Amino acid sequence: MSELGNPAMKVGILGFGGLGQAAARVLAPRQEMSWVAAADQKGYIYDPAGLDADRCIAVYRDRGSVGYLEPQGHLSQDSIQDLIERSNAEGYFLALPNLPNTFMADVARKFARSGWRGVLVDALKRTSAMEQMLALKDELQAAGITYMTGCGATPGLLTAAAAIAAQSYAEIHSVKITFGVGIANWEAYRATIREDIAHMPGYDVERARAMSDAEVEALLDKTNGILALENMEHADDLMLELAGICSRDRVTVGGVVDTRNPKKPLSTNVQVTGRTFEGKTSTHTFTLGDETSMAANVCGPAFGYLKAGISLHRRGMYGVLTAAEVMPQFVR
Ligand code: NAD
Repeated sequence: MSELGNPAMKVGILGFGGLGQAAARVLAPRQEMSWVAAADQKGYIYDPAGLDADRCIAVYRDRGSVGYLEPQGHLSQDSIQDLIERSNAEGYFLALPNLPNTFMADVARKFARSGWRGVLVDALKRTSAMEQMLALKDELQAAGITYMTGCGATPGLLTAAAAIAAQSYAEIHSVKITFGVGIANWEAYRATIREDIAHMPGYDVERARAMSDAEVEALLDKTNGILALENMEHADDLMLELAGICSRDRVTVGGVVDTRNPKKPLSTNVQVTGRTFEGKTSTHTFTLGDETSMAANVCGPAFGYLKAGISLHRRGMYGVLTAAEVMPQFVR
């Protein structure tokens, strides 16, 4: 029960790597959501009474899958499908790699075809991946699924901040997102780092996906652990265009990832430049606190959008919505 006396929303986490584990920790002290299900590549776990983050993280770290946790865990070759069939979670955060670039859309289709109804939230990054999700709008709507896309940090928190900042202006000239990420070692966030490498000159999603861990390490050795990224294909552009704020060519995303130091190499920020109704040009800047980690800035918003999605779902609103269209709700 939440402190308001309503039953806690039962939620699951798909993918139990860096973000999935952080998501479990983010949920642990919250009253309004109860974490009941998780899946990774080799197994899944479900307990309607709630899961313990520390135990799940320990078994994943030691044995490589939550499926090994006794007695609720199960090993599986098709963990997501098996979990969908067994769990009664009302919503899921998809902390899955989008490798290949069609993976997340395939997962969404799996849910739609299973007969499950509820809310799904992703932290998808690429514009072309989100376009696939938007193309599933009718199918997800007909299935009774409320799908919230682009609900991490960028896209996500920063895109939503841009949508709010835009309200001061009559016309938006540019939205410039610059992120700084510091992580102690790249292996804690393999998919994130591979997907970032895919934005570097000479790389694409398929090439980054095919790289062995040793190849990723060799690349990071050459750059001293730093990935400097500019003009990334990031769905913030599509989301702000769909929200009617500006055309996508006015949105740029770039940043620096330090894979050897948890300190951020620069402060993550979004700058929204526009013209007011009086004809003045100005820039609003929203800067994230340097102490906030990537995990905090992705998982917090993801659950905020999951709560918002659940409230829409309970009112019968299905289909695909982006983080720039809906306000996240704070999960107590
Ligand atoms: P990770 O590599 O640390 O973990 C991935 C997890 O997914 C692992 O537990 C793995 O076992 C599981 N998995 C892989 N294939 C699976 C399958 N077929 N079925 C079930 N589980 C499977 O990943 P990460 O670094 O935590 O990143 C997750 C995603 O979050 C990435 O796509 C990344 O781009 C995205 N991300 C978004 C933002 C944002 O701000 N929007 C920021 C960071 C990361």
